[in-house]
Amino acid sequence: MGKILIIGAGGVGNVVAQKCAREKDIFSEILLASRTKSKCDAIAKNIGSNHVSTARVDADYVQELIELINNFNPEMVINVALPYQDLTIMDACLKTGVHYLDTANYEPKDEAKFEYKWQWAYHEKFRQAGLMALLGCGFDPGVTGIFTAYGLKHHFDEIHYLDIVDCNAGDHGKAFATNFNPEINIREITQKGKYWQNGKWNEIDPMSIHMPIEYPNIGHRESYLLYHEELESLVKNIPTIKRARFWMTFGETYINHLQVLQNVGMTSIKPINYQGMEIVPLQFLKAVLPEPSDLGENYTGETSIGCQIKGIKNGKERTYYIWNNCKHKDAWKDVRGQGVSYTTGVPAMLGAKMMMTGQWMKPGVYNVEEFDPDPFLNELGKYGLPWNEEIDGPLAFNDYE
Ligand code: NDP
Repeated sequence: MGKILIIGAGGVGNVVAQKCAREKDIFSEILLASRTKSKCDAIAKNIGSNHVSTARVDADYVQELIELINNFNPEMVINVALPYQDLTIMDACLKTGVHYLDTANYEPKDEAKFEYKWQWAYHEKFRQAGLMALLGCGFDPGVTGIFTAYGLKHHFDEIHYLDIVDCNAGDHGKAFATNFNPEINIREITQKGKYWQNGKWNEIDPMSIHMPIEYPNIGHRESYLLYHEELESLVKNIPTIKRARFWMTFGETYINHLQVLQNVGMTSIKPINYQGMEIVPLQFLKAVLPEPSDLGENYTGETSIGCQIKGIKNGKERTYYIWNNCKHKDAWKDVRGQGVSYTTGVPAMLGAKMMMTGQWMKPGVYNVEEFDPDPFLNELGKYGLPWNEEIDGPLAFNDYE
């Protein structure tokens, strides 16, 4: 049991705060801090419990973070602000002696490039300080790594092929909106795709490989090969993997909008001069798009995210599919959020619970697949994200070799 500091009061911050507030035995006191305090206040008001307080912090500044942490004195920080703030928050955690968890790996603001190297470089510092940092504990990255670790623990001697498949078959009724922070989302999609094969990365043009994949309870949806950060840690931590890919669905309308925005230069991260002021087109675009936290109320449909695995068990080939489906309206009912924020925020809360209860606790910087998946997956359903599995069944797609 201990105090927790949550940084970031967007779509995901709302879910994490609500879910933590219900676990009073684990999180004795909660401080929700973000750049815009009024957003924290609105979430706290909605929760209506007196063990959630709020504060303003600009997490780009280590000194501000240190003061905030020292004043509140938490056991750990859950970082659900933006990937740009990962390193400053990790620095502040080291200076103040608190544990750390996030859901997205560090990205420099001026280059759309995400890699674990910057955060993995903190391993020795965290280890020596007796502190733990858990990286990427949302759904993907997050549960997808835990699903893979669970598959390996219970169903395989060796994993050879891994396809992470992510479908959002939902409709929020807006012409164009992103389900998580628009700036981060668009940077992710418009960069080159990449997958792991036979010991090296293969790079492809953005969205140039796609095919229909069948998702449980949804049916076939066109799915695009993207680079996603958990591929990097999974191929490192499970070296028998010969090929690892990540697929995500996009509707035609979404892609058409994105293409137009790209063609006219609105997705660029290069600063331009506008009426004597320097602005970044993508940041301006973010300002006019709907907030991810405002999409929930009339969102219909569901998400389906899982891992399709092929490998060897007892000398025989086996296929395995493990997945979760989450209905947007169930997320709304539970926390007044939408499904993508929900599938990220619930695992972040549960990862923090694993750390606070000592079930996942070792000094250093780790990815989720480096821990025992059982205690986490035993509880995931209880918190709103039940999962299913199928061995050698018809659902896993067969494009393996
Ligand atoms: P939002 O844009 O809804 O929220 C981001 C929040 O961070 C806002 O409250 C924002 O404040 C705050 N913030 C931004 N910069 C700072 C700063 N310098 N200091 C303090 N607070 C700051 O995004 P989401 O909630 O959708 O996403 C949150 C995180 O979750 C992102 O890192 C995203 O990549 C990650 N994510 C991970 C997923 C996974 O499965 N692993 C899936 C989806 C998201 P303000 O309101 O002032 O802008």
